[in-house]
Amino acid sequence: MSHISGKCLCEAVSYKIEGDLGPIFNCHCSKCRRWHGAAFRTRTSVDVSQFSWLSGEQNLSTFASSENVTKYFCRTCGSPLISTYKDRPNVLGVPLGGLEGVKKGEPLAHIFTGSKASWHTITDSLPQYEGWPGTESKVRETTVEPGHEVSKNAI
Ligand SMILES: [Zn+2]
Ligand SMILES: [Zn+2]
Repeated sequence: MSHISGKCLCEAVSYKIEGDLGPIFNCHCSKCRRWHGAAFRTRTSVDVSQFSWLSGEQNLSTFASSENVTKYFCRTCGSPLISTYKDRPNVLGVPLGGLEGVKKGEPLAHIFTGSKASWHTITDSLPQYEGWPGTESKVRETTVEPGHEVSKNAI
């Protein structure tokens, strides 16, 4: 089983992910661009059973970026960490930029290209969607089937 870890810029907060990442998307929406200060956010979804904080949990701050979504970040260095969703309590959104040990997976598509930065040109051949890639659920999928938790003892 793969072992993926991640940490914030100041390294106060660290975490690990067990098992495989869900589908990966490059999100060009204006909120992701602002949160990351970047052309787009490369993100995936994991099941809460796959995720654990290793250090610095007391150093987290949160921001409700919409009625449904809460963003977690390091209160010392500001690094974006995870997102939680009121309507999907078993799912966490994770940006790939802070991860180490990702061995498989690549972005499936660019999404919300309707909000893409004017100064950024997409030069790869991945599919592009102006908004969601069909439905929001496609973005929030994980590799864990509902009711089947990843065994914490497997690694
Ligand atoms: Zn930090
Ligand atoms: Zn976005």
